[in-house]
Amino acid sequence: MKISDIQDQFSEHVIANYNRTPVCFVRGEGSRLWDTEGREYLDLFPGWGVAGLGHCHPKVAEAICKQSKKLIHVANNFYNEEQGAFAEIISTHADNRKVYFCNSGAEANEAAIKLARLARQPRYKIVTMMESFHGRTFGAISATGQPEYQAGFSPIVPGFSYARMNDLASVAENIDQDTCAIMLEPVQGESGVIPATPEFLQGLRKLADEKNLLLIFDEVQTAPCRLGKWFGYQYYGVQPDIITTAKAIAGGMPMAAMLAKPEVAAALKPGTHASTFGGHSIGCAAGIAGWKAMEEEKVMDNVNTLGPWLDERLGAIVKPVMGVKAVRRAGFMIGIVLEFPGADLVADCRNHGLLINCTHGTVLRMLPALNISKEDLEKGVTILEECLDRAVRRTGSVRLTPVRD
Ligand SMILES: *Cc1c(COP(=O)(O)O)cnc(C)c1O
Repeated sequence: MKISDIQDQFSEHVIANYNRTPVCFVRGEGSRLWDTEGREYLDLFPGWGVAGLGHCHPKVAEAICKQSKKLIHVANNFYNEEQGAFAEIISTHADNRKVYFCNSGAEANEAAIKLARLARQPRYKIVTMMESFHGRTFGAISATGQPEYQAGFSPIVPGFSYARMNDLASVAENIDQDTCAIMLEPVQGESGVIPATPEFLQGLRKLADEKNLLLIFDEVQTAPCRLGKWFGYQYYGVQPDIITTAKAIAGGMPMAAMLAKPEVAAALKPGTHASTFGGHSIGCAAGIAGWKAMEEEKVMDNVNTLGPWLDERLGAIVKPVMGVKAVRRAGFMIGIVLEFPGADLVADCRNHGLLINCTHGTVLRMLPALNISKEDLEKGVTILEECLDRAVRRTGSVRLTPVRD
């Protein structure tokens, strides 16, 4: 099908809640994608971080095929073998926290919010961070400290207040006798790759202990392996009570999980929370294959080796003549802060076969596959440099005021 026909079909039948680029992908393999025109792309933002192992990892694909012929889904009032096996793998890599499965990051955060209230009732308030992103369901937009995600949906879920990231006093000011939890991303992704400082997270742990609050890490983007450890909390050495994860958890399948320390998890008794699809056999089979592949292919070593190399390589473009103000990196989360709006640059990169993202108007974002090769990263950075060079020529010496999209 031609892209114009596909666009027509979408405008006729698909609700237009996304800004879509007129490119339709038909095939993926590792860090490569191909569109309907047969054009090849190097994908440094695969599925917004979903394709942690790249597109269509053969072991994941095989597990999905095999499982789909055996059993796809049974309801959660019965057992299925794959759910138990995947939970054991996750749990083993997360200091034996217990696992609840659902289907998206927002859903995992909803579960975390419900569990926090349930475990600390009648306390109900949750302190989250300004500029955070926790998803698009009601609890999740209420937790998200960005008014634009809440606009038009009033009244949002009550009980959320927003503190400044990396400012312990600001969090403390938001806590009162009704507070049950503190929730944050260890590295804010959507807001432009803003890592928490270790001292901040250590301080939050202490504060939570003093006030008997639950510390919730939204690791939808930072786990598994994105920061060079199975979980972001291990990268920081700070133990949260509840963790949520999704995106790359199951090789591209719609899967998510909430993890909780056993004594906290105990509050979720039968009847308190549920998901029809949660922990279905096919997603769990994909997850099991994916986590095995991440281990076998030593993707964390890859992140930890190529990360510092990226600092050096990208450090070279942090200069006014390139229009780059700063590079922020945590593991394989990379933010390149531009001095000008990045939308045209992203389009130019795409036209030259490179897929990256731009968030908050001026921050280029990359979440490369965890198993990407140095050659592919080098190729991507080279294309980016050429596009940056063109962009700077285009904008000339005029430094536009940063805008948000
Ligand atoms: C993507 C993301 C979410 C939302 O996940 P969905 O699967 O889109 O619901 C929540 N939190 C963080 C940190 C994310 O990056």
